[in-house]
Amino acid sequence: MSSSETNPFKIAQSQLDNVADRLELKKGIHLFLRTPRRELSVNFPVRMDNGEIKVFQGYRVQHNMARGPCKGGIRYHWNVSLDEVRALAMWMTWKCAVVNIPYGGAKGGIICNPKEMSQAELERMTRRFTTEISIIIGPEKDIPAPDVYTNAQTMAWIMDTYSSIKGYSVPGVVTGKPIHVGGSLGRNEATARGCMFTIREALKHFDLKVIPPEQWRKECSEEELDKDICDGDEGTGYKLNKATVAIQGFGNAGSISAALLSAKGAKIIAVSDSKGGVANKEGLDIPKLIEHKSKTGSVIGFEGANDDLGPKQVLEFEADVLVPAALENQITDENADNIKAKIVAEAANGPTTPEADRILHEKNIFLIPDILANAGGVTVSYFEWVQGLQQFFWSERDVNVQLREIMTKAFHEVLQISEKEKVDMRTAAYMVAVKRVADAIEHRGIFP
Ligand code: GLU
Repeated sequence: MSSSETNPFKIAQSQLDNVADRLELKKGIHLFLRTPRRELSVNFPVRMDNGEIKVFQGYRVQHNMARGPCKGGIRYHWNVSLDEVRALAMWMTWKCAVVNIPYGGAKGGIICNPKEMSQAELERMTRRFTTEISIIIGPEKDIPAPDVYTNAQTMAWIMDTYSSIKGYSVPGVVTGKPIHVGGSLGRNEATARGCMFTIREALKHFDLKVIPPEQWRKECSEEELDKDICDGDEGTGYKLNKATVAIQGFGNAGSISAALLSAKGAKIIAVSDSKGGVANKEGLDIPKLIEHKSKTGSVIGFEGANDDLGPKQVLEFEADVLVPAALENQITDENADNIKAKIVAEAANGPTTPEADRILHEKNIFLIPDILANAGGVTVSYFEWVQGLQQFFWSERDVNVQLREIMTKAFHEVLQISEKEKVDMRTAAYMVAVKRVADAIEHRGIFP
């Protein structure tokens, strides 16, 4: 693979290849895991608001189901391709395995520009796509969820369409649903909350700008302690002591990471979205910035900032922590050398190319890989699915406590392998995940 390769599927395959020898993976199992188990490509017509009929192309790819039903989001984006969906599906398999939840990996996508479509058009496209892929999804088979430019409303349409086909309500067919139709408290914030927990464990590991819980409890108010309990910390969590953070992307993962990290005591000093970026060395007021973005559609022009940045400049900002929370291939061989953060936490899927990985590792930058850093979303999806199957719903506090336990345990399992095997955190996470999947395949055996 060339050092400037940006095909996400080739990158995903090379990441697997990188651990196959270390794990002494059998050749057949390695080859089986290199390609998706099942791929569905659909072309379908949608009536647009002006009466015209447009044909859209979409995919649902199931990478592996050895550990349980397939799980993974559906994205709407103009750059969706079959290879991108294949890579994202493979990453879901590893993500579910690294946090040890009983799922395999899948992903879906439609090539479209959701920014230029009305709600009615989005609804018709979603419902027709659901019908097309209904032959392979289902609560015991493959469970979609939100991803880039899809949300709880999209999931409600999928759930309703699938239920109409079946003739009864099937809430377990998707996760990330609105609360009123069986969604879970805490699901919307889960990717960011999980990411925050891993960042905090990394800061603790380096003893970098953290305040121990005993000290914090002496200083905090009743109200802060109550909030901490609902956050899943139970008054026992470390606080961040003005650790500085730069965030690329201000969608679900980026904006909520900013809010949660700043509530824990971090200083968010630079933020960008697809239109541009803003910075303030004293720290941006995140609730106000979120309000500004929801009013104007972008972070640019925010009053509380004293610097304007290009969307990619944020990556090179001098900060303790960098959170790429946008799309793939943002940190490449072209800019990796300019990254100044001490910790990189990949809230996005696939933001760093393998060549950039090598450069960051050489520069001693501690990278928390996507399959670990952003696994909070699918973890609470799992909680939502379990709650739906049991028809028994948890409090937000219970969701967050369970999420914290799973994320911190996974972080330390990966860290331990990384120290023992003297490998970077991505390699360590792959070693944990791929081994779990390979063991499941070995135990189930090859049929017939
Ligand atoms: N799309 C999210 C991810 O990439 C969530 C997937 C899910 O909850 O199934 O992890």
